Amino acid sequence: FLHGRTALVTGSTSGIGLAIAQALAAAGARVAINGLGSHEQISAAIKAVDTAGNGGTQHFSADLRDPTDIAAMMTALADWSDGGVDILVNNAGIQHAVPLAHMPVEKWNDILAINLSAAFHTMRLALPAMAARGYGRVINIASVHGLVASRDKAPYVASKFGLVGLSKVAALEYAAESDRARGGITVNCICPGWVETPLIEPQIEARRGGGSRDDGIRALLAEKQPSLRMTLPEEIAALAVFLCRREAHNITGAALPVDGGWTAQ
Ligand code: NAD
Repeated sequence: FLHGRTALVTGSTSGIGLAIAQALAAAGARVAINGLGSHEQISAAIKAVDTAGNGGTQHFSADLRDPTDIAAMMTALADWSDGGVDILVNNAGIQHAVPLAHMPVEKWNDILAINLSAAFHTMRLALPAMAARGYGRVINIASVHGLVASRDKAPYVASKFGLVGLSKVAALEYAAESDRARGGITVNCICPGWVETPLIEPQIEARRGGGSRDDGIRALLAEKQPSLRMTLPEEIAALAVFLCRREAHNITGAALPVDGGWTAQ
């Protein structure tokens, strides 16, 4: 159902972003990927997304810490997508878990820049073209940490609460810019609990306590996620694809937890 649509997924050389890029391609979209990595990792990501869909995947190499780089990427994307992408997934994110007083200032700056400010820049540059076409989907990958806090994650929690707020403002501004027939402009956050990706490896490692990696995973889940099951990246991707459907035109300004009950507590 996404034939003829284009999408940008930031941070899609790995983890959740790569799974979303593959799922959007499988639904028919032409997908632009972005993210850091070796030449091999980027080539493998392009191939994985091409294989999932109909080809035409392109990598845009912007470093999301740099607003000038983001603006250049969005200009190049406007050419690639004939005026601007229909679907924007702000997924890139980094984490650093240490107590607030020990948080390096450069980690604060990088986390806020990548997890929050980059989404502001891509949205301010992508939303006007979506409004002009009458269809647009912004899907921001926030976190349970956009809804509740945990210790040792000051910049991460601040960035994700900020992303939830930013998304609600954009949802309001664009809510009436379209109609049911054209599909609407919606802006939402997906708020995952623990998802098995490279991002959480250091936190698994920190809880192994001399045991196996599985022991580390069990300890991590027991702390916060009542289902005691990890979410898989493709499960987050399935929700992202649903949000792109026409039937989802009235889901906007939402922050949707996929967290095994974490935020129900
Ligand atoms: P990941 O580490 O597997 O992937 C992160 C992606 O972001 C990579 O493609 C990386 O290259 C990219 N990236 C990092 N810095 C960048 C930069 N400066 N410029 C461009 N790209 C950059 O992580 P993931 O777990 O797939 O995380 C994806 C998103 O999901 C993040 O926003 C994260 O906060 C969020 N999230 C993850 C979990 C989880 O448990 N894994 C839970 C909740 C939310």
